[in-house]
Amino acid sequence: MKQFLHFIGGAFVPSDSGKTFENRNPIDNSLIGLVSEGGRTEVEAAVAAARAAMKGPWGKMPVTKRAELLHAVADEINRRFDDFLAAEVADTGKPMAMASHIDIPRGAANFKMFADVIKNVPTETFEMATPDGGEALNYAIRKPRGVIAVVCPWNLPLLLMTWKVGPALACGNTVVVKPSEETPATATLLGEVMNKVGIPKGVYNVVHGLGPDSAGEFLTSHRDVDAITFTGETRTGQAIMAAASKGLRPVSFELGGKNAGIVFADADFEAAIDGIARSSFVNCGQVCLGTERVYVERPIFDKFVAALKVRAEAMKPGVPSDKATGIGPLISQEHRSKVLSYYAKAKAEGATIVTGGGVPDMPGELASGAWVQPTIWTGLPETASVVREEIFGPCCHIAPFDSEDEVVALANDTPYGLCTTVWTQNLGRAHRIAGQIDVGLCWINSWFLRDLRTPFGGSKQSGIGREGGVHSLEFYTELRNVCIKYA
Ligand code: NAD
Repeated sequence: MKQFLHFIGGAFVPSDSGKTFENRNPIDNSLIGLVSEGGRTEVEAAVAAARAAMKGPWGKMPVTKRAELLHAVADEINRRFDDFLAAEVADTGKPMAMASHIDIPRGAANFKMFADVIKNVPTETFEMATPDGGEALNYAIRKPRGVIAVVCPWNLPLLLMTWKVGPALACGNTVVVKPSEETPATATLLGEVMNKVGIPKGVYNVVHGLGPDSAGEFLTSHRDVDAITFTGETRTGQAIMAAASKGLRPVSFELGGKNAGIVFADADFEAAIDGIARSSFVNCGQVCLGTERVYVERPIFDKFVAALKVRAEAMKPGVPSDKATGIGPLISQEHRSKVLSYYAKAKAEGATIVTGGGVPDMPGELASGAWVQPTIWTGLPETASVVREEIFGPCCHIAPFDSEDEVVALANDTPYGLCTTVWTQNLGRAHRIAGQIDVGLCWINSWFLRDLRTPFGGSKQSGIGREGGVHSLEFYTELRNVCIKYA
């Protein structure tokens, strides 16, 4: 059985308390291993190691050398691609086809991308006249913030973690990562990579544990943490923001969503079906950018519902290694209970269940896994729980609409504002809608198409700040203005 240890100051260590928790494989609920549960002692040690590295070799290293090392990290992840793939797939149960296409390569690419950004982005200079007739020159330099706490979710474990660790390290910070308790493996494996390529000890630290009254809370409330970057639920974000307020530490938050997909009658029908099928069901619906509310223009409503039903029913549940697998399990039994409670609510609130709504029959040991059926509902009012609340499962409600103004109002009627996906061939309308929907990310005739240089983040209760490209520098560095007066 595997042991998942903390990675502190370049060494793999168990918890002082000896406390552990189980890591289970969601495809059959089998035990993968035991994870050390970090407490205040481990958080203290990790933050101290990160601080020491900041003051020591990492803080003094020239940016070119830092960037070179981060390229080496990416290369080493790619060299150990199969190890990362196996670890990610065991923790999440997701199809290998997806993890090998998205999770691992993009997880590695984040290190190269931000190493290149920090080398190439200039700062500003201003010359000015002084009151005594002299002159002064202002220029800005970017300084790392210091020790960054990185708190991660379980849906894209390596990718979302390196999306933060990559820029944090590129900018010269050191990090303490708290991976999700559901997915400890790839963050641990990354420790081996850091040692192998010669990242100085203490630059990258991992403390495993839970959230409240455990490693997550102890880390985010630690006074020697300079900034906190977090991806996860909006409610957790509120708890972390309260912790960050002590000491006025800055936060960068990527939070929940209840994203609308909008399909106009003039859309390329097949492309729209393809896009919405992906945005609603990929990764078993466990994508923050996923679509759980679909609005379809009335003339094509029935045809659209029928076609999406066919796509949902064609998604074969199965094991990650099977190329025919269309959908994996949810992350855990606990999450499955939550998703199934929404399936029950939809029924109780009077939904028409177009397809799904339950648990698929799985053979043998797979019957103990966290499987659910892809599910489509129609006929609910906008006030229904499954239309308003984030479910994070493979499901969507589809409603008809009659006008552009109406659908913009429907899409915006939510406390969230992460993203939207709009399908139309009318260019003017596409631009109008993009300007009116209150979201951080608006995809037109596409979904999850990502250029890592672009700003990523949510509006309203879906986040604070933007990460990606130069935008990450706003959070991971502080600009210092230097003003020199000369005669
Ligand atoms: P979660 O909020 O339950 O947990 C995320 C992390 O926070 C975990 O590591 C957890 O241990 C930790 N945590 C929990 N309580 C804490 C506390 N009080 N203090 C400190 N840390 C604490 O989220 P999850 O279930 O892992 O992930 C799913 C959620 O993440 C969904 O809401 C989804 O929309 C969101 N998400 C958002 C984005 C985005 O980019 N906006 C991306 C992925 C996931």
